[in-house]
Amino acid sequence: MTVITGAHEFLDSEVYIDLRHVLDSPLYLKCEGFNFAGSVKVRSAAWMVASAQREGIIGPDSVLIESSSGNLGVALAMVAASKGLRFVCVTDPKCNPSTAGLMRALGAEVVVVDEPDATGSYLAARKTYVRERCTQDPSCVWLNQYENPDNWIAHYENTAAHIAKQFPHLDTLFIGTGTGGTLMGCARYFREHRPQVRIIAVDSVGSVNFSGAPGARHIPGLGASTPMPLIDPELVDEVVRVPEPDAIRMCRRLAAQGVLLGGSSGTVVSAALQWLNRYAAKAPTAVAIAPDLGERYIDTIYDDAWVAEHYRDIPQDFLENQ
Ligand code: PMP
Repeated sequence: MTVITGAHEFLDSEVYIDLRHVLDSPLYLKCEGFNFAGSVKVRSAAWMVASAQREGIIGPDSVLIESSSGNLGVALAMVAASKGLRFVCVTDPKCNPSTAGLMRALGAEVVVVDEPDATGSYLAARKTYVRERCTQDPSCVWLNQYENPDNWIAHYENTAAHIAKQFPHLDTLFIGTGTGGTLMGCARYFREHRPQVRIIAVDSVGSVNFSGAPGARHIPGLGASTPMPLIDPELVDEVVRVPEPDAIRMCRRLAAQGVLLGGSSGTVVSAALQWLNRYAAKAPTAVAIAPDLGERYIDTIYDDAWVAEHYRDIPQDFLENQ
């Protein structure tokens, strides 16, 4: 039995799926969707808030504000509520309606900006709103996941340390990239403690992380429309880019086996399978981090009409053959 005193003591899921039994692939999937708040981002949320409280940046009357495509927003809503703090999440129309609903249920104010840039990204508009609100209201504190080192330190201290303990013979680790918090925390940990572990960054086609060409993307969480300041490409051994339709195919393939995961998990598994098919002999123990579960995507990547509308070049028979 595990007893906790509140949501700020978030739970590490400790669940891994052995995909040899699901996709016949030698890959362990670390399921972060079983964490409190349903995603990997609770680690950064709890760490950033605790650290800002320790440093006196957050006081009892502070209003936390953050730009998030969803999961950090839900995690911060939970952490803020557990500490009696107000929280404003600045998001955009790509945020799944159910995710915004979760934040509201946890007491957060949800602001949806609606001015996309040329690639369809709302990140610049979200950040502009955050800055304006902080100017108007001095009690607002922007934790700034895009530049806050505590975002990656959370993963150095717990995500990576946990994987290292569970897998003493780890060879290759696949990590999706949004802000780069998960990637950088894990990459720094393994560079320092087990430099032989191969770190593979996974990104979406259309993301500018790792100097990719900008393009339209519809799956929230993974990828970036402007370079992410936390990312140091020198710490990464390889980058694998996955087109979003391939990620959706992988999500649906896993769901058909009873494993319902989010879009970025489909992206990471798709990249890992591609890589392992080429180099399996080199990777006796491979782990991929699955950032969240599929429930939040039932109306998007698991909805045929949504997929047909957003991916016009998806083969006609894709949906029919599900
Ligand atoms: N996948 C999902 C579903 C996410 O919510 C996030 C966080 N934006 C990521 C991947 C990427 O994580 P990070 O910000 O640590 O790079």
